[in-house]
Amino acid sequence: MRALRLREVNGKVGLHLDSDAPLPEPRPDEVLLKVRACGLNQVDLLTRDGQTPAAIPLPHISGTEVAGDIVEIGSAVTGWQIGDAVVVDPILHCGECSFCQTGDTNMCLKGRVFGVQTDGGYAEYVAAPAKQLIPKPINLSYAEAASMAVTGPTAYHMLHRRAGLREGEDVLVIAAGSGIGVIGCQLVALAGARVIATAGSAAKLEQAKALGADFVVNHGDADWADQVRRITGGRGVHLVFEHVGEATWNGSLHALARKGRLVTCGGHSGFSVNMNLWHLFVKEHSILGSFAATRQDFLDVMKLAADGAIKPLIQQVFPLDGIVEAQALLEKRAVFGKLMVDPTLTPDSADVE
Ligand SMILES: [Zn+2]
Repeated sequence: MRALRLREVNGKVGLHLDSDAPLPEPRPDEVLLKVRACGLNQVDLLTRDGQTPAAIPLPHISGTEVAGDIVEIGSAVTGWQIGDAVVVDPILHCGECSFCQTGDTNMCLKGRVFGVQTDGGYAEYVAAPAKQLIPKPINLSYAEAASMAVTGPTAYHMLHRRAGLREGEDVLVIAAGSGIGVIGCQLVALAGARVIATAGSAAKLEQAKALGADFVVNHGDADWADQVRRITGGRGVHLVFEHVGEATWNGSLHALARKGRLVTCGGHSGFSVNMNLWHLFVKEHSILGSFAATRQDFLDVMKLAADGAIKPLIQQVFPLDGIVEAQALLEKRAVFGKLMVDPTLTPDSADVE
């Protein structure tokens, strides 16, 4: 099959578009999917650059957000049929450990991420555990459904499970144009809270308004955090939705009101930050880590998308040959919404949605 594989050639690890990658063989509890759409994520860049906490065995196929059609079914799988259109919940969990038993499946002691610690969807076919599947919502395209698989549940887990988002709050959404920022803005607005969104260009600020942001601030401005405070009459926001890390961390804390919460799920601009502990305790700030999402978050957010309460936003769909170009766009943050791959596209048929 065709696949974009991370592998070593002449001592150098890089991405290679191969036409002779072996077709995955599903285990008894897995199905084989014909990949119809796969989302690009920051974690793919970490994997490519060897920056994941544990080394990834090579060759490796990235791609965590997958929607596709079942073409083969493992011997122990029940409840699914050849031809079913499905979405993969990428947070793999054992179902048995103390965390899984209380529903905290994202904290599973044996947890893995599909497309990071397994092969993923940068390929024509991928094997996936049957218990991780849900039917693709009928009103969403494959690309729309796949685009939500990581970003949607991650944003939902941050705002609702970790930060306890409440109606009427002021919420600062950092980098509204990112995959999770787009969903974050919509979830905040849906909860009846006020969205103050940041982005890095005038065009993106306009797009953030169209998503439902009540106020927008350019996080390239030196005084962006002061601008946020002024919007709230000097009090600061109740909640900051963080995922950028080093580049925005101190501004995010500066924009936070007394007794405010900051919830973070990432730090692709850098994981090491300096903090003034005086401000932390005097203002009674709460800093909340958030990792991926539970199974229930996945189900809840997919239901919201299926009902049309939140809408996926796709900037562009690429063929497999276009992933390197797409990753470069992601790296340059030249994206508002999601970049997707459709392995059924040939280079000439690639389309912009
Ligand atoms: Zn577990």
